[in-house]
Formats: sequence, C-alpha cells, structure tokens
Amino acid sequence: MYPRSAAPRGRPAYSNGLYPPPPVTRCYDYNHQSLGGVNSFHVPELQRLPPYEWNPPRSTSNVPPPHTPTMTNGRKRQNIEYSPHMVKRQRLDSVSHPLLGSPVIQAPSPPRHLEQGPAVPESFNSLQAYAKDKLSHQMVELFEACQQQSSDLERKERCRARLQRDIQDIYAVARLYLTGSSMNGLGCRSSDADLCLVIKGTKRPDPIFVLSHLQRAFRSLSYVERTQLIRAKVPILRFRERGSDLEFDLNINNTVGIRNTFLLRSYAYADLRIRPMILVIKKWARHNQINDASKGTLSSYTLVLMVLHYLQTLKDPVLPSLQRDYPECFNPFVDIDMVPEGPKRVPPYVSRNQSSLGELLVGFLRYYATEFRWDKQVISVREARALPKTNSHEWTNKYICVEEPFERNNVARAVHEKMKFDAIKAEFAESYRILKDRKDLNSILPVRAVINKESSRR
Ligand code: ATP
Ligand code: MG
Repeated sequence: MYPRSAAPRGRPAYSNGLYPPPPVTRCYDYNHQSLGGVNSFHVPELQRLPPYEWNPPRSTSNVPPPHTPTMTNGRKRQNIEYSPHMVKRQRLDSVSHPLLGSPVIQAPSPPRHLEQGPAVPESFNSLQAYAKDKLSHQMVELFEACQQQSSDLERKERCRARLQRDIQDIYAVARLYLTGSSMNGLGCRSSDADLCLVIKGTKRPDPIFVLSHLQRAFRSLSYVERTQLIRAKVPILRFRERGSDLEFDLNINNTVGIRNTFLLRSYAYADLRIRPMILVIKKWARHNQINDASKGTLSSYTLVLMVLHYLQTLKDPVLPSLQRDYPECFNPFVDIDMVPEGPKRVPPYVSRNQSSLGELLVGFLRYYATEFRWDKQVISVREARALPKTNSHEWTNKYICVEEPFERNNVARAVHEKMKFDAIKAEFAESYRILKDRKDLNSILPVRAVINKESSRR
C-alpha cells in the first residue's frame, strides 16, 4: 500500500501479483504474473518492466479448471461448461487476470490430455478476437494509442512517493494512496492522478483545515505548482507537477475511493474487452461534453459504473456482480491496508458472451438511448441489475441514479439541471442513431484528433 521505504516496521510489503504490469506502448501484456505493478501499494521495480508483447505468451501449464461460483440468488452461470473451448478461454483469462500469480490462489494443473491438446489459436489470446470488424478495430486502435503508459504511472508514483515523504514531515502518520483511473486500469495518458491522504487517529481531521495547511506547505515544494483548494462535497487540493501537465487531486480520508478503485480494477481486468470499451466511451463522452461533474454532467466514475451495469445486464452477461459473488473479497469494512488482499482471491470470470467490441459499444448506446428507464430505475453494479427507484431521499427528484457500490449513495448527483440531463440523453440517442447504421467510430468521435491530442501528452 505504501512504498517499502515508507512502510511501518512489521508490516509486510505487498508482493507481486497484486497489480498488472504497467502497460507499455502498443502492448496488451496481460501476463500479470510477471511482476508487481507500479502503485502506491507496492514499490515499483522500474528497471524490471515487462517487455512489449502483442499477445500474451502461450501458456503450457497450470491451466486453471473452470470455476463455478454459486450465485447468492441461486442461479449458476450458464456459461461454465467444462469443454476444451472453455479451457482455452480460461487459459486466455488466466493470463489476462491481474490478480492471479498471487500467493493466495494456486491454479491446479489441468487434466493431462487437455494440456497436450491442440494449440490455442492466437486469436483466443488477444483482443483481436473481438475486433474483426472496422468499428471494433477502431476501438482497439484508440485504446492502444490512449491507454496509460508505464512511464505515466511511474511518473505519478514517483511524485506520490516524494509527496508522501514531504507530507510526513507535517503529519507523521499520514499515508498517501494513488487511486482512480491511474490505478484501476482505466486510465488514459491524459488522466489526472487522484490521491487519498489517509490520516488515521481517533479524531477525524477537518479536510478543509488539512488541505489549507497543505496548500501553504506546498508553496515550498520545488516540484509542485498551481495549488487550488476546491471546496466540494469531498474537498480536494488540486495541483500540478511543476513544468508538466500532470495534475493531481488530493482528498483527505475519502477511503471509499481506495475500496472502489480495487473493485473497478477487478472489473477492468475481468474480461479483455472492458478496458478498451470504457476508454472509448470516456473519450466519446468527453468529446460530447457530457463527462464533467463540475459542469453538471457525468463524472468518469459514474460513466464507468454505467458501462459495467450494461455489461452485467446483458442476456449473456459479460460481467457478474463481483460483490455479490465474492462478498468476502470486497468487504466494505476491511481495514484499508487489507483492501488489496481481497481481489487476489477472485478467480477469472468466463463469459459466454462473445460479442465484438463494436457490438458492445452500439449495445451500450442503445441501452441508454432506448431501454433504460431514467425516471424509474437505479443502476446498481453491486447487485448487477437495475433497482426500482424508491422514495428515499437519495433517489427522489434526481435525474440520474447510480449507486455507489460501497456507500450506496448517488454518484450521479452532479446532474441536477434538467438541461444537462436532457443533453446527456440526447447524446446517447443521437450517437446511437448514427453509429447503428454507420458502424464507424469516426461518425461519433474524431478518432485521429483524439489520438493526436493524447500522443502529445507528457
Ligand atoms: P479519469 O480518467 O477521467 O480521471 P477516474 O476513474 O479517475 O477517471 P474520477 O471521476 O476522476 O474518475 O474519480 C476518481 C476516483 O474517485 C474514482 O475512480 C473513484 O475511486 C473516486 N470517486 C469519484 N467519485 C466518487 C463518488 N461519488 N463516490 C465515491 N468515490 C468516488
Ligand atoms: Mg481521475
């Protein structure tokens, strides 16, 4: 959770397998077993970054058998047949899962005849299997060009570590955690770095007091500039790394952000399609000016939950509810330092849904343009379904209701103006109308311009 150098004595440093390796240019390296990631929970070993690989290496051993989690509602997943095909999919997913390789899960060996069976087609091992059509291919291209690079994450991590040391001169027991898209696998090159400063103690400090104090203290830091205190519901100190376009948002003790970062991270790596799908949708929403909570539209976090909800509620779901299937892994009361341990015990999810990326994108737009009942339904990723809107204070008179998976409040409360709500719905309707016929990403998003903008970063 913190760099080894900063870890208190007697606490184990988190070991490899917790995070996927940071992506490198043009890379779908989903071999998460090779090394730990770069993050605030684990010291990066920067010199040992994984080499570039288009496809994950073909695995010849340790193919985990299909996993059949019992759902709490009594249903079994329909997609868990033990067939050679499923073994291939498992092999794909075992390589792609960020949390395997953990000392906790030991994948049993496969039956011998299956291990010696026909080679896995390359396509099974990569996103290319879901990108045979033009639209899907464009999505992959955008994802590749825009996804957060290892160098971006290393830079954020170096800055976080430095800041933590300087903050500890003032608050000796404080710990700084990198959260949000930098850590959950859903970041772009241009994503900001969200930070949570955890100050433990019997008396909860007033966030505004602490942030004001830090704002003054940061004046003497050579590597920080443009600090700005934002008095929102969750107050933040916004600042930049001097001379760069790397922006930080630092909050005090908003630890739900650490929990949901790990939940989102588990979803992000549950299926190869999730990360490209979400990145494209974030870019689409940003381009259409419906992705800015400070301007009364959707926060990225809300948008991500909307995508997960869509994927959970398909006839053949692409995603399950991880909180429902593995409640012990996402226990909302577990100590923050133990949060990363839970997701390690989540086995890969195998979906029967083989839709291409393009089909999923069109389906996402269709769902929110024509099916979802904004006035009657609450999105619940926790339950993997739409809940009926009740008369509770949380949901009444709200245009968009998206449940925070741990705190169960409305993450879409920023959308409080009818005009903004209408603009959001109109974007879904219009983009769906266009994309369903054109099947060309450029018809709803200037792909080249977005890529060029992103490539000019850092
Ligand atoms: P981007 O790449 O656009 O920065 P992001 O994933 O970092 O996207 P943000 O909306 O900036 O998304 O939020 C940053 C993080 O803060 C989220 O990942 C989540 O952990 C936390 N967060 C944001 N909004 C809420 C909320 N309403 N309740 C709880 N946690 C939240
Ligand atoms: Mg962010």
